[in-house]
Amino acid sequence: MSIHLAAEGLFKSYHKGRTEVPVLRGVDLEVERGELVAVIGSSGSGKSTLMHLLGLLDGPDAGQVFLDGRRIDNVSERNRDALRNQTFGFIFQFYHLMPELSALENVMMPHLIRQSLFGYFKNRTRLRAEAAHLLKRVGLGHRLDHKPNELSGGELQRAAIARALCGGPDIVLADEPTGNLDAETGQSILELLRDLNRERGLTMMMVTHDPLIAAQADRIVRLVEGRIEEWSPALA
Ligand code: ADP
Ligand code: MG
Repeated sequence: MSIHLAAEGLFKSYHKGRTEVPVLRGVDLEVERGELVAVIGSSGSGKSTLMHLLGLLDGPDAGQVFLDGRRIDNVSERNRDALRNQTFGFIFQFYHLMPELSALENVMMPHLIRQSLFGYFKNRTRLRAEAAHLLKRVGLGHRLDHKPNELSGGELQRAAIARALCGGPDIVLADEPTGNLDAETGQSILELLRDLNRERGLTMMMVTHDPLIAAQADRIVRLVEGRIEEWSPALA
């Protein structure tokens, strides 16, 4: 067993005018390679903030983030962009797909726009094939050319999952991926994530409000008063 992603003593506050609102107050966390961890906690407890810090979308006020034992919260901007693009895949509650692009374009575009002009033409065909393959894997092989407004909620989240997997990340951070879906559709999305976790050995952290969804993770942690505690359904 090896610790894939870890946080040590993470602190984060936001400022409302002159008042400081502490959100994270010393988060310690270790996630093993291949583990699927559910993150629960009441609304406003800092779950999204934590995911942003772990995925280097934002920086902590204090504390450290480690990938395979190496500190990553303080790397150069260039290395941080590379980690965001290659190591982490993000899934959000409201999908964040571009309305004017097809499902296929939505999956490949984040990677295509990072290429130089030369890389763009060189990699376009490869990325297109990867995107089509991923959309087939998530059950959208018949929806490649559909725009987001032509897809159902569950299909939108499947497209967003394909986008998160494009480029082959090692770690998937999902922030309430079933939060906008009915129970049955949410369960099918959870099963897809669970299958991808197992077949690709992906490390996953998934924020959820839903105890039935959380119970299917390998482990549940809870954010309380700015810190992480281990949680088990028996404690409810
Ligand atoms: P959760 O995802 O658990 O609902 P968040 O991490 O989104 O919680 O937010 C935690 C707290 O931080 C909330 O009180 C929220 O209002 C506040 N907050 C989050 N983001 C910002 C921001 N960019 N500026 C100011 N306050 C914020
Ligand atoms: Mg949130």
